[in-house]
Amino acid sequence: MMGSGGMVVLDDTTCMVDFARFFLTFTAEESCGKCVPCRVGTAHMVDILDAICKGEADMTDLEKLERLAHTVKENSLCGLGQTAPNPVLSSLRYFRDEFEEHIRERRCRAAVCTELVEFHIIPGNCVGCLRCVAVCPTGAISGPRAEPQSLDASKCIKCRSCVEACRYNAISGDAIVADAADPTAAGAGTTAATGGSDAR
Ligand code: SF4
Ligand code: SF4
Ligand code: SF4
Repeated sequence: MMGSGGMVVLDDTTCMVDFARFFLTFTAEESCGKCVPCRVGTAHMVDILDAICKGEADMTDLEKLERLAHTVKENSLCGLGQTAPNPVLSSLRYFRDEFEEHIRERRCRAAVCTELVEFHIIPGNCVGCLRCVAVCPTGAISGPRAEPQSLDASKCIKCRSCVEACRYNAISGDAIVADAADPTAAGAGTTAATGGSDAR
């Protein structure tokens, strides 16, 4: 993906939009700034990916992102700029549906993009071990030991510590922003969030 000969193995707990943003952010920061396509283009691509991850982009942004990726790739002076768009282009090629879900349904199926998810306890999976309670910095999770816990979303700052701590796959990330044109999209994104899903 990065042209360095390395291989990265991912599972379905990685958000491909967030993953592309991670790599592009790195190369944008490494840009020496000598040529405009790399200096300006990569920064603009990061902005678009940010907007997609936050559910603030529309389909024209996706087109812009793709056009920009080709422009940066074809017009940059050195290998950094010429390969910087590769993670975006290959993610778009193989995982375009995930980009479109973020935009059309404001849904992150991997429950990684925090603006698009709200965490809940799955009562059937929760054994009441209280590991999540111990790590939660805001006291958002409570309940008696050995019984399913409750998570108060109004106190949750989405730090994901509980997700990382839970060994029973008992914390889920649900879509929280419905597409105005499609109210059925609300809650359609129920996704079991598991530890280590954040690619950053
Ligand atoms: S493509 Fe190379 S020369 Fe151009 S700004 Fe990026 S790092 Fe610098
Ligand atoms: S860590 Fe998981 S299983 Fe344990 S109390 Fe929290 S949600 Fe339930
Ligand atoms: S994501 Fe963080 S703040 Fe929210 S419930 Fe889990 S540990 Fe608490």
